[in-house]
Amino acid sequence: MERTFLMIKPDGVRRGLIGSIIARFEAKGFKMIAGKLMVISDELVKKHYYEHEGRPYYQDLTTFMTSGPVFAMVWEGEDIIKLSRFMMGSTDPEKATPGTIRGDYATRMNRNVIHGSDSPENAEREIHLFFQDEEFV
Ligand code: ATP
Ligand code: MG
Repeated sequence: MERTFLMIKPDGVRRGLIGSIIARFEAKGFKMIAGKLMVISDELVKKHYYEHEGRPYYQDLTTFMTSGPVFAMVWEGEDIIKLSRFMMGSTDPEKATPGTIRGDYATRMNRNVIHGSDSPENAEREIHLFFQDEEFV
């Protein structure tokens, strides 16, 4: 079964959206196999978003991601990487279709509520950045 890493970002946690977002993935038929509320370090956020280092928005992104607790999760399901990205909607909430998570809950880039892995390689890498094997149920 495919696994992915999903993370409710500090804006989503602050706004009380954890429950609503989890409910969408549960309703879709996916299964959460690990989850925790945590404040992420600069070091961890740099590893997580290493592909974006040097981009003009990078400083803003890392400051935002460490600005409060996130809810980090591992989910399992058929084709979950592609389908969870569909459910999240476009990176830029201005382009995200209503009915998607970002389309329904967000209005601007860098306050886009949720992260989801974009490939099987990144899913494995991100899962192991945030979780140890013994944390999976
Ligand atoms: P995420 O990885 O957070 O799930 P994503 O995969 O949809 O988002 P990425 O291209 O991986 O999009 O970008 C990571 C994050 O960097 C985005 O969520 C956004 O906050 C920020 N970002 C990406 N591109 C831009 C941009 N052009 N301007 C401002 N911020 C950006
Ligand atoms: Mg991404």
